[in-house]
Amino acid sequence: MKFCFTAGISLFCYASIVSAAPRPLFAAASKDLGSTTKAGHHGHSHKYPAEIQELFKGNIAFRKNMTNHGPDFLKSLAVDGQKPPFMVIDCSDSRSSEEAIFSVKPGTMFTTGNIANQFHEEDLTTNAVLSYAVETLAVKHVILMGHYGCGGVAAAMAPLGEKPTHPAHCAVQEWIKPIRDVYQRSERPEIIAHRKKMLKSPTQKAPGLHDPAFRALVEENVKANVRRIADSAVIQDHFAALSAGSDELQKTEVHIHGWVYDIENGEVTDLGITFGPSGLIEDGSPFKKSKY
Ligand SMILES: [Zn+2]
Repeated sequence: MKFCFTAGISLFCYASIVSAAPRPLFAAASKDLGSTTKAGHHGHSHKYPAEIQELFKGNIAFRKNMTNHGPDFLKSLAVDGQKPPFMVIDCSDSRSSEEAIFSVKPGTMFTTGNIANQFHEEDLTTNAVLSYAVETLAVKHVILMGHYGCGGVAAAMAPLGEKPTHPAHCAVQEWIKPIRDVYQRSERPEIIAHRKKMLKSPTQKAPGLHDPAFRALVEENVKANVRRIADSAVIQDHFAALSAGSDELQKTEVHIHGWVYDIENGEVTDLGITFGPSGLIEDGSPFKKSKY
């Protein structure tokens, strides 16, 4: 990522990450799990972790539920391949799970996610997913899904205190830097008021779920990422090929949507910034509309 090497704090963070001694986490974890089936470190046996047992039971239930879509639903999906109409970029947050939120079957959504649902062309992972979704799978919609109560967005509202020294903190601070930029530049009245308040009395205390500036920044972060997707080479090349009638790319008209999920009541809000080959489409969404 280009922006890693710009500011002083980034250089510092990068140096900390690369100089950190390798830690054999996986080796240690494997050893611990192995010990659970027979005698443990202290000579007594104990059960496999209960949360893993829950996943196993859940998997049995899932397989049973899938037969509701037909006896060979999963098999035909495997044989025929996927043809998802949607690609979703969401937050890694465990409360934001789109297949569950929209009650859709496997094979419907091609997904990727990260902290605070960001898209940057320099981020090879997200850009490769977008490229494959648009050019190979021919998705009809790219949904950028934010959520209220996002920890990554909340962290971007806190003043930068001491330089973080732990590599994990450095990585998070580096990743949320573009959201800090949105926070600093936004002209939303709620965010302006928050900036003024923080200048007067800075605090590291996380904003409340209903803090209007917090909710506004979640929305503005979604909009910034939708703009970046719309401006990306993948989308611009696709739109250009569509208007030129080129056969090189799939002919599907792709629309990019900016939505926000409310973790408190499950409701989805449409930010009214849907962007397609013919430009902005502000009206017609069945979802709740944001007033900004
Ligand atoms: Zn989040």
